Amino acid sequence: SVSNIGFIGLGAMGKPMAEQLATKLPSTTTIIVYDVVESVINELVEKYPGKVFAGTSPKHVVENSQTIFSMVPEGSHVRSVYLDAKTGVCSTNLGNRLLVDCSTIDTATSLEVKDYIATHHPKASFYDAPVSGGVIGAIKGTIAFFVGCAETDPNFAQLSQLLKLMGTQLIACGKPSLGLSAKLCNNYLSGLIAIANSEALIMGMKAGLDPRVLSSVFGAGTAQNTICDRFNPCPGVAPDAPSSNGYKGGFKVQLMKKDFSLAMGLARELGVELVLGAQGLKTYESASSDPKCKDLDSRVVFRHLGGDEE
Ligand code: NAD
Repeated sequence: SVSNIGFIGLGAMGKPMAEQLATKLPSTTTIIVYDVVESVINELVEKYPGKVFAGTSPKHVVENSQTIFSMVPEGSHVRSVYLDAKTGVCSTNLGNRLLVDCSTIDTATSLEVKDYIATHHPKASFYDAPVSGGVIGAIKGTIAFFVGCAETDPNFAQLSQLLKLMGTQLIACGKPSLGLSAKLCNNYLSGLIAIANSEALIMGMKAGLDPRVLSSVFGAGTAQNTICDRFNPCPGVAPDAPSSNGYKGGFKVQLMKKDFSLAMGLARELGVELVLGAQGLKTYESASSDPKCKDLDSRVVFRHLGGDEE
């Protein structure tokens, strides 16, 4: 039936998000899933028999569902999922479908897809709704969504119901593509804070301070911040932080580089000068290709800057 849900892109984030829907949606609603990697489709179909069904293309997914989510790596993938002339979402009649892209991509690509749909499928609605909270958040169903629309948008209530099955926080950012702008501002800030924590810790440790003592100073002082408290870049300070587990299981440094460079692109487009941006990007670029850091949590920037000589 067309009241079903479609999910395209079943990677580190998309798979657990689709699983939240599979376990929480009423038994009468089915989910049709698609990824370019076939094995992950089969895995979900086998895990949720009678609930999750295999899609053969984005077009096939959209022909069998009313609300469709996408969660793919980059703008080029979003373009192909939506705009491919043969297999894309937009290559079939969209009627009044709701299309929600949760990928972190550039605002220009998102607006291009949005405009294409507005022109060729005027009854359908497309939203940017990027997320924060990481793979752990996706598994626990506690991610935050930053949605590119106003709270008064006619679809917002319906959209909220579905997004709340996958996450706990929902912020309407005002207009199309502003969910993405908000996400890029957030990751720019969070990426810089991680570098600042690392540098301050390295300096203090060189001076002879215990990183736990110094981190509690930051917590008691004006430098109080959540990267220090929950994602401390120095191993052994915050027991649950990825750094205390070999920098495993967090937000990959390559993704931070990607988001940081998307944020720099947004700033360029807007004519905004980011004085710390170039240094930040350079740091994440070199950390991403550092064999001691590659594929690890982005707070491994502490190790890249020489703080953790393992
Ligand atoms: P991932 O690489 O683990 O998964 C992406 C999935 O998309 C893969 O399974 C891939 O096969 C599939 N895919 C690629 N092209 C496709 C296409 N044309 N059609 C169908 N499927 C296709 O990436 P991820 O970590 O799940 O991240 C997805 C998005 O979410 C990215 O934009 C990322 O920046 C963002 N994000 C990630 C995290 C995180 O912690 N991993 C957190 C917040 C946001």
